[in-house]
Amino acid sequence: MASRDTASVGHKWVYDFTEGNRELKDLLGGKGANLAEMTNLGLPVPPGFTITTEACQAYLASGTAPAELAEQITAHLTSLERAMGKRLGDPSDPLLVSVRSGAKFSMPGMMETVLNVGLNDASVTGLAAQAGGNERFAWDSYRRLIQMFGKTVCEVPGEEFEHALDGAKRAKGTTNDLDLDAADLRALVDTYKTIFRKHTGRDFPQTPREQLDLAIFAVFGSWNAERAVLYRRQERIPADLGTAVNVVAMVFGNLGPDSGTGVAFTRDPASGAQGIYGDYLANAQGEDVVAGIRSTVPLQELEKLDPRSYGELLGIMARLEEHYLDLCDIEFTIERGKLWMLQTRVGKRTAAAAFVIAGQLVDEGLIDLDEALHRVNGAQLAQLMFPRFRLEHDVAPLAAGIGASPGAAVGKVVFSAERAVELAGEGESVILVRRETSPDDLPGMIAAQGILTSRGGKTSHAAVVARGMGKTCVCGADALDVNVRSRQFTVDGQTVREGEVVSIDGTTGRIYRGEVPVSPSEVVRYFEGSLDATESGDPLVQAVHRIMAHADERRRLRVRTNADTGEDAARARRFGAEGIGLCRTEHMFLGDRRELVERLILARTDADRQEALAALLPLQRNDFVEIFREMDGQPVTVRLIDPPLHEFLPPLEELAVNVAVAQERGQDAAKEEALLTAVRRMHEQNPMLGLRGVRLGLVIPGLFAMQVRAIVEAAVACARDGQVARPEIMVPLVGAVQELETVRTEAEKIIAEVVGDSGVEVLVGTMIEVPRAALTAGQIAEAAEFFSFGTNDLTQMGWGFSRDDVEGAFFWRYLELGIFGISPFESIDRDGVGRLVRIATEEGRAARPGLKIGVCGEHGGDPESVHFFHEVGLDYVSCSPFRVPVARLEAGRAAITTTGSDSR
Ligand code: PEP
Ligand code: MG
Repeated sequence: MASRDTASVGHKWVYDFTEGNRELKDLLGGKGANLAEMTNLGLPVPPGFTITTEACQAYLASGTAPAELAEQITAHLTSLERAMGKRLGDPSDPLLVSVRSGAKFSMPGMMETVLNVGLNDASVTGLAAQAGGNERFAWDSYRRLIQMFGKTVCEVPGEEFEHALDGAKRAKGTTNDLDLDAADLRALVDTYKTIFRKHTGRDFPQTPREQLDLAIFAVFGSWNAERAVLYRRQERIPADLGTAVNVVAMVFGNLGPDSGTGVAFTRDPASGAQGIYGDYLANAQGEDVVAGIRSTVPLQELEKLDPRSYGELLGIMARLEEHYLDLCDIEFTIERGKLWMLQTRVGKRTAAAAFVIAGQLVDEGLIDLDEALHRVNGAQLAQLMFPRFRLEHDVAPLAAGIGASPGAAVGKVVFSAERAVELAGEGESVILVRRETSPDDLPGMIAAQGILTSRGGKTSHAAVVARGMGKTCVCGADALDVNVRSRQFTVDGQTVREGEVVSIDGTTGRIYRGEVPVSPSEVVRYFEGSLDATESGDPLVQAVHRIMAHADERRRLRVRTNADTGEDAARARRFGAEGIGLCRTEHMFLGDRRELVERLILARTDADRQEALAALLPLQRNDFVEIFREMDGQPVTVRLIDPPLHEFLPPLEELAVNVAVAQERGQDAAKEEALLTAVRRMHEQNPMLGLRGVRLGLVIPGLFAMQVRAIVEAAVACARDGQVARPEIMVPLVGAVQELETVRTEAEKIIAEVVGDSGVEVLVGTMIEVPRAALTAGQIAEAAEFFSFGTNDLTQMGWGFSRDDVEGAFFWRYLELGIFGISPFESIDRDGVGRLVRIATEEGRAARPGLKIGVCGEHGGDPESVHFFHEVGLDYVSCSPFRVPVARLEAGRAAITTTGSDSR
């Protein structure tokens, strides 16, 4: 908002193009700053001035313009009139102006523009004279003004004007605007004026200055237009920036065949390839191109039409690239053979083009590698890593859910893990559809090409596991009525049965019926090692290779991975992981080990329990040996078991039914009954806040001890084979130092006993995922050799949001209200949860200098969050294997001081 200071007497609200420059985007908006920059470069920019974003902020805050604004506009208008040798709306030789929005960040098409301001019943004749007696042109310009002004400034429904224009063309028996002559357009102006009067209750304003002022205020107001608000929310553009307004002398591309308008890019914004890319439309104004009324021709055609202007344009484009050191996009107009630059900016581009162009500019010696790194980002890299659908036509999706794990998957629908495994075993590609998934579904998830659920958000079980595996997942598609029993889902009256093919897009969340073709990612092939960067002629792969190497050189944060199997660990290493930051051990308790876990849970005596644990021990040990081998001397953080134990038992309802059926039939159901009793006993209202994590270790004797023994024995076995293993034992869900001390005391005894003289070093640390742990981190650090932030739980407990429910249930409303711009489960909430991270880091390190601290929640692979963890001074982030390259890149970006253009 405009401060008192800026509102004081003498504040400058208006800047001539000769006064600004490209650094002043905050104040002059992107368009204004760049018009000023081009003016100062001596490029042919029509004269004009910019009313600042501060003026807009002041106007929107108070509902009126700042006191001196009108006066300053008058002064700038006078010098514009002097420069042009004409007066605004002069009946005999009018100066006309365009009034264009232009915010700091480009919001294409979201706000308003009014052209031809200054035309009225008198000056329309002067304009015709000025245009060499071209009456048609003058009346066409006037009708455009009434149309744009009516719609933008006075909210007259745009269709009414369009209908009238169509009517005029119909009457003439044509579909082409150019067939309307001066008399037709003059009659159309009358019709437009009637429409204007009908909707506004007044005549179309004839005073040029009134037109100008109203247009300026309308552009200010368009900052808060619904579509602009929506766009900002999506693009995470702050709501209080406001827009600048540019008042520019009109130049006309519609004065005849020697006039025209066009857009151009200095490189291909799709692929990054060098060359001239653009479109040109002769005898037209900019909005004709956007409206697609007539088809444009490739820019190269201009060479034939107007070789002089074409040559000049190429020269200017080269000059702009050299000046901005980046791909520029431009808008230009040719008025009777004279070229005018109407806009330039550093152009938007695809993810692939961003990398390729950054690499090219380094090669050309225009930027250094730091700047190249600054100009790409992790979201772009992630996009490049997933296979993509090639949608040839506008195919309507069946439904849409939350894009939880990107990628494109096509397969036959199945509704159970067993069926997924079965069909996948037969070589089929399958999509596992569930209402939600549980650890039980894991084999099916592994077998499936993609996962689709009707419930749960981005941190639901399905989403987290799928991301971990780099598997496509769409979750929370609540329009789907999934019926697992009858093996079908219905949506919008359509039924999709087991075996039918669907395609799911984990980026957009869209679900398609039938097969949509996909292409694999070259970038992943490169990371996987199957494509050599230097041998590959692919400029994208070469650019990724170079920029990644630089990111690795620059970053301070280490990057580890969350991996539970040797296979995941191996892939993560190929992707550049420098250790495991979270090995969740619960997945190791599933499959054929479930029976042993059941025995453990149901054990009535110590002996029974010891027996079950003893049977689990060698299995666990082998798991760890496999992972340590794979990580080959890199640190491996193993988390002791975390989820409530009843997750390893069959669901209560299913058991109850089985027992009832067995009893009815008079069968022996002793085992099921015992299970049912145990499940009932363990049932919790809020399992996420119940008996899990360290609490389990304190309540079930021998459980943690068995795991600690398995970890250390595995490390010692590796050491005996000459391989270094660096285990870090991590205790989950600690809230009080006493919990950790109890576990640690027991663990240390086992470590001392097992390590013996093997030379193996074992660290014992904790997760910080309960707010109380963060707030007592100083005490906890006394007992912990490392911290790892479990930001999933820390967010869940910090906000009091059930992570499996809220995203699908009501986050849409929170996003709509702007309570947050992105789910706090996706990107760290800096102010709240982030503050807990900061406090715990500071107090932990104060108590134990040099304490090693990382993060292993989902946020470890989120670009924005990586920057935050860098700022707070963590030692590493840990994320799913597929996010490792993204985290490496962003850690590098966080480490460089930025100098260049905004990468938005
Ligand atoms: C966390 O809470 O951030 C975490 C990594 O643990 P989990 O997601 O397994 O609860
Ligand atoms: Mg957790």
